[in-house]
Parts: sequence; structure tokens; C-alpha cells
Amino acid sequence: MYESPLVADDAGVNKRRSSQALAPARGDTLHGVVSPALLADLRRACGEDGVITGEAQRRTYESDGLLQYAVTPGVVVLPATAEEVRDVVRACHGAGVPFVARGSGTGLSGGALPVAEGVLIALSRLRRVLEVDLADQRVVVEPGVTNLDVSRAVAPTHFFPPDPSSQVVCSIGGNVAENSGGAHCFKYGFTTNYVTGLEVVLPDGEVVALGGEPDRPGYDLLGAFVGSEGTLGVATRITLRVIPVPAAVRTLLAFFEGTEAAGRVVSDIVGAGVTPSAIEMMDRLAIEATEDATQAGYRRDAGAALLVELDGPQAECDACLEKVTALCERHGAMEVRVARDEAERERVWRARKAAFAAMGRISPTYYVQDGVVPRTRLPEVLARIEELAGEYGLPVANVFHAGDGNLHPLVCFRGPEEAVRAEELAGLILEACVDAGGSITGEHGIGVDKKRHMPRLFGEPDLAAFQHLRCAFDPDGLANPGKVMPTPRLCGEVPGPYRQHPLEQQGIAERF
Ligand SMILES: Cc1cc2nc3c(=O)[nH]c(=O)nc-3n(C[C@H](O)[C@H](O)[C@H](O)COP(=O)(O)OP(=O)(O)OC[C@H]3O[C@@H](n4cnc5c(N)ncnc54)[C@H](O)[C@@H]3O)c2cc1C
Repeated sequence: MYESPLVADDAGVNKRRSSQALAPARGDTLHGVVSPALLADLRRACGEDGVITGEAQRRTYESDGLLQYAVTPGVVVLPATAEEVRDVVRACHGAGVPFVARGSGTGLSGGALPVAEGVLIALSRLRRVLEVDLADQRVVVEPGVTNLDVSRAVAPTHFFPPDPSSQVVCSIGGNVAENSGGAHCFKYGFTTNYVTGLEVVLPDGEVVALGGEPDRPGYDLLGAFVGSEGTLGVATRITLRVIPVPAAVRTLLAFFEGTEAAGRVVSDIVGAGVTPSAIEMMDRLAIEATEDATQAGYRRDAGAALLVELDGPQAECDACLEKVTALCERHGAMEVRVARDEAERERVWRARKAAFAAMGRISPTYYVQDGVVPRTRLPEVLARIEELAGEYGLPVANVFHAGDGNLHPLVCFRGPEEAVRAEELAGLILEACVDAGGSITGEHGIGVDKKRHMPRLFGEPDLAAFQHLRCAFDPDGLANPGKVMPTPRLCGEVPGPYRQHPLEQQGIAERF
């Protein structure tokens, strides 16, 4: 049984902002448990050029998109086929060494954060589109294929709706593991609504098929895997549903004095029975940053921009566009623009999709938070965020999937002292989301960053049930240990009222 990160939490994690954090080990020597025998097995599996041991190269993989956390992996492997992934996992299991799957490393919750004494399995070489079957509206891909390349593979007649803003680089394996969303998920649903089958290498190296068509009886193990953040195994082959491209698309951009009026429009659009494919919002600071970066023509004097996209049959689109325009005007929109052609639509979206990266114009460092609230509570939670930003003296920009109530406050900070306060502020934002009946993640997952917030949302019995499921897949705790679950608990422990783990009693592990 591999124990340390599951129970010792952030051991080996260098939180860049914290002076007290344990620094990751540096130096060319590999960590103790990556033994010469295991290294030989990994080289047999992936070939000499598929195993990275040099310190500088290993450090390339020390963080995902959440740069506040860094751990240098013991060794990195680059398998090129599903069989190589299987052999790597088998070798890890045989040696009792933990492993972490990594897609493109764009995750924003530290999900792909390596284990210092473990193996990082980078899946970027598995990027083949294996089958395109438009008659059955399905496509089969390897996990390293990017989100956008799935849509490209079925264009121009079909597309894959979940569209994270990172879609040019993020992998479909990462999307499955995070149950990723995107701007068009309001109408079309999240990744889980499109995954119909998976080939998975379980943590002991066994290869299994989950799901498949037609829908199979029995427990929904496919559903359990989607969103499991790499803790139940490694997906090596992914079958996805794709859908026909809609006949028409209309894109509207409205500007308001502030987010409150824009928030009311969002509720009214949905209340009027209109289902846009996307409803996105940006506040003043986000507009300023994206305009600096993209010059897409957003109004700098506006307090909020609302981007609404409608798709479907032409007549339906036109009718809905009229309704949405009227609602914007009724709530005092400063201006309503409708994209005249594809170039204009593309320009409007370019600004929205570049919003995270554009924040660099405002602050060199920022913390991306991800919470979700019932849509009708958006104005009150946005007001609370503004209040908190004032209290902490830190700028917070908001750019988010308003239709889903999925907030992405970007908390700006400079230097280590502000970093600590930024994290505190980001935590209070999550509390505000939970208090408003929402949740601690809309789409970025729990990873390492949010696990301490899990008890805000779940009681001990729920957490014990999660742990039972995890242990059914991974009794040895080797797959992405130290992620998602907040409390130090090992497989085989009796669930129920909390009892101190022996490692806690020894002061090695800590409970959050
Ligand atoms: C600029 C920017 C914009 C973003 N916008 C969005 C957005 O709009 N919506 C959204 O949902 N997310 C968004 N994200 C977050 C991120 O892109 C998604 O979470 C994405 O799905 C991560 O994919 P990845 O390939 O980078 O995965 P990684 O970061 O490499 O890994 C993420 C998790 O998946 C696991 N994993 C990866 N591959 C596999 C596999 N084959 N089998 C099992 N587990 C695996 C890892 O262990 C880890 O836990 C954004 C990120 C950035 C940087």
C-alpha cells in the first residue's frame, strides 16, 4: 500500500507562495522508490526516448496550469500507445510506486501535480484519431488528442460541443478526467454527456472497457470515471458522441453599466424559455484586460459585457435574438451589437477565450477561482466578491459562464505576502458560493487545491462513500494520490465517525 501523499497531504508539494512548504527535492538523483529495476521496466515499456530522468526535463512537468503548486516528478514517461501505458502502470503497481496521468497540463486545480517519488505518465504522444463514424455520430480518439482536434476531425458537418477556453491545447483525456465544460455547455451539457465508452488501464494494470453502445445494464462505472481526476486509472481510448453543426448561429454582445443589470438579463432570458447555446459575462476589469490584449472592440466604459449566442434553425434563431435584444434593452443596456458575419463573431469570441491569459496585462500573477451558484443568486454573489476584493485590497476580475452560474473570479496579487491573502480571499469566495446554494467547482475540478474545501460541501458519510468507490478501483492508492479527498484515510478503513489515523497520531499527517 502506498501511503504518503494520501495521508500526508501536501508532503513534497512546494507551494510557491509558502515559505514553510516543503521544497521538492532537486538534483539528478531520482527519488528512492523509483528503483533501477522500475526504471528498467519503464524503459522496456516506452523505449529509451520515452523515459525522462534528467532534472531539468523533469522540472518541465512540475506544475499544471495552477502554478502555485510545484512538485518535480521522480521520473516522467512518454508512452506512445495504450499498451505502453498499460505496461507502465503494471510496472508501477508491481513496484508499489504511485503514478499521475497528465494530458496537456492546463488543469487549474493541481490535478496533474506530480508525486515526488512517483511516475508522471504524460499522454501527449497518444494523439491519434482512431475512428470517425458520422453515420453513428461517434468518434474514437486517443487521450492526448486536443479538444479542438476532435471537432476538426468531424468538421464541417459535426462538432464536439464541450469547448473549454483552453480547447486549442487541452487534451480530451484531461477533459474526461475533469468532466470539463465550456462556453457552449449551457445548452449542450458537459463532457460527461458526450463520453459513451472508455478503455481504461486500472491502477493494477488491468485493461477494462467501460460503457459502450448500446447503453449497457449494470452500474454506471463510465459515469463514475468521468470527473474522477485521474484517481481511478488512465483512459487510453475514448469514444465520444458528436452532433451536427446547427443550421444557423447568431451572436450578440451587449454592454451594461454593471454586472447586476447584466445578471438580471441572464435570469430573464432563461425565464422567457430561451435557451442560448452560450451566455458569457465579463466585468469591467476583465473587459479592460482583454481589450488590451485583443483589441476586439469591447466598450471600455462598460461595467459588464454579456455575450449571448443562439443556434438552431434560422427562424428560431432570429426569433430568439429579438427576444434577447428586447430583454437587454429593457434592463438598460448601453449598447447591443449583433455580429454581422463569421469574422465579427470570431473577434467577439477571441476576446472571451483569451480572457484568462489577458489578465497578465493587469497583474503578473493571479489565482483563478472556480465556483458555481444558482443563476438567480449571481448578482448577490458578485456583490459579495466585490466586497471581499475591497476588504482585501486585491483586484478581482470576473469572467464567467453566466448561463451555468459558473463563476471564474481572477484574484490578482503580487509577491508572496499578497499570494497568501489572495488564496484566503479565493477561499472566502468559495464559501460565498456554497452559502448561496452552489458548489466549490463548476468545471476545474478539486485536484490538490480545493480538497480542503470538500467538507464544506460533504459530510463524513459522503466522503466515506467516495473513498469506498476509489478503493474499489485502486485499493493500493497508487493512482494520483493526494488529490480530491480531503481527509487522510486509507483503503480498508472502516467508515463512520472520524477516528485519528495512526500517522496523524504520530504527527506525520494532518487533517483539514
Ligand atoms: C486558459 C485556460 C482556460 C480554461 N478554460 C476552461 C474552461 O472553459 N472550461 C473548463 O472546464 N476548463 C478550463 N480550463 C481548465 C483545463 O483546461 C481543463 O481542466 C482541461 O480538461 C484539462 O485538460 P489537460 O489535458 O490539460 O489535463 P491535465 O491538466 O494534464 O490533467 C487534468 C487532470 O486529468 C487527469 N488526466 C489527464 N489525462 C488523463 C487520462 N488520459 N486518464 C485519466 N486521467 C487523466 C490528470 O491526472 C489530472 O487530474 C482552462 C484552463 C486554462 C489554462
